Amino acid sequence: MTPAPARRLVLLGATGSIGAQTLDVLARYPDIARVHGLAVGGSRPQLVVEQVLAHRPEQLVVAEPERAEGVSDAIDAACRAAGIPAPRLESGQAAVTELAGSLGPGDVVLNAITGSVGLLPTLAVLSSGARLALANKESLVVGGDLVTRAAAPGQILPVDSEHTAIAQALAGVRPEQVDRLVVTASGGPFRGRTRDQLADIDPEQALAHPTWAMGPVITTNSATLVNKALEVIEACFLFDLPEHRVDVVVHPQSIVHSMATLIDGSTIAQASPPDMRHAIGWALAHPEKLPGLAAALDFSTAQSWTFEPVDETTFPAISLARSAHREGHGAMAAYNAANEEAVAAFLSGALPFLGIVDLLSAVLEDPARPRPAASAGVDGVLAVEDWARAAARTRIVQESAR
Ligand code: NDP
Ligand code: MG
Repeated sequence: MTPAPARRLVLLGATGSIGAQTLDVLARYPDIARVHGLAVGGSRPQLVVEQVLAHRPEQLVVAEPERAEGVSDAIDAACRAAGIPAPRLESGQAAVTELAGSLGPGDVVLNAITGSVGLLPTLAVLSSGARLALANKESLVVGGDLVTRAAAPGQILPVDSEHTAIAQALAGVRPEQVDRLVVTASGGPFRGRTRDQLADIDPEQALAHPTWAMGPVITTNSATLVNKALEVIEACFLFDLPEHRVDVVVHPQSIVHSMATLIDGSTIAQASPPDMRHAIGWALAHPEKLPGLAAALDFSTAQSWTFEPVDETTFPAISLARSAHREGHGAMAAYNAANEEAVAAFLSGALPFLGIVDLLSAVLEDPARPRPAASAGVDGVLAVEDWARAAARTRIVQESAR
């Protein structure tokens, strides 16, 4: 029997789309790390049982306390039947953050929670010294300055296909040699439509993404292009560039995952068939390469890759995020929090599709929006978030009463 690797891994959001694919990568490449802990919301107890039996974590955290008992009962019964010790189980958001910060240098934490609730865990990982493989882009977008200040050089490895692409394109390139970054976008399911044609979009249509299978929030964000907006800001923080040097281009095939244009006029692209295991494996194994991680492109058959500009009139989410990012003072935290509320309302039928980005715009324009100074730190960010969620909910109630 090969000995378990010394490097430990904590996976936050294990039962989600990225979480499950991460465990798939680990099952195929067990030398990367051994699973020390998993954190989940708690809505999929049977999947948690399967993951515990397959990966034998020492610790398990269920973020939603009211779901902990159900998960605990299922785990205890399954572990007893399998004759293995059950993991130590804790519950609540504070326990997720504690688990996130429980490893150290040489270990890795993959944050695949959805939403800005991932911010405190992200900060906890960074202060622990462990590598942060970051799928939870929201934490970087809402807490950009805090997160980048807390990170040691190279400590954050993005698990977002665009940003792993840029990181690969920039390998061996010095910062002053970069002219601009070009983030590619599939364009989502409604590419080519006018604003009027989006009025009656329902959740089922928005959740049918043409090239990627992902969780419901990011899939909805891909349909509004809010996901691309978050990714532009994510790129600004990860690669230390102003937003006007991060372009977006629509590339419906999702094969070129992003590009960097250098000062000598050369553009370097990373290309592979769309498969998030590529980004996950890259971030976990870097600087090593995992042989056979994902299928490579096959050039024996004809293919064409196309690029077109974004229709910013139909999809104003990106320009809205650019101005929020330029403004600073928590504006991106307000943008993201309002979006999280708007997406939940859209998915439950309480807000029309076009109402999502209209709501972001209205919340950002509200003169009552708090504008904390950078010195307010994480408390300032959380205060803006609370205010923006409440403001968004009030507007959603008003909208559905009309
Ligand atoms: P999912 O909705 O599929 O998964 C979210 C996971 O987080 C689930 O395991 C969920 O548990 C868990 N969870 C929910 N709340 C908490 C909490 N408070 N604490 C700990 N865990 C929690 O999302 P995705 O996997 O699609 O996305 C995750 C993140 O990765 C997002 O930030 C997304 O933007 C980013 N990302 C995703 C990509 C993709 O292809 N899916 C691509 C690039 C980035 P439960 O199952 O119990 O609800
Ligand atoms: Mg992406």
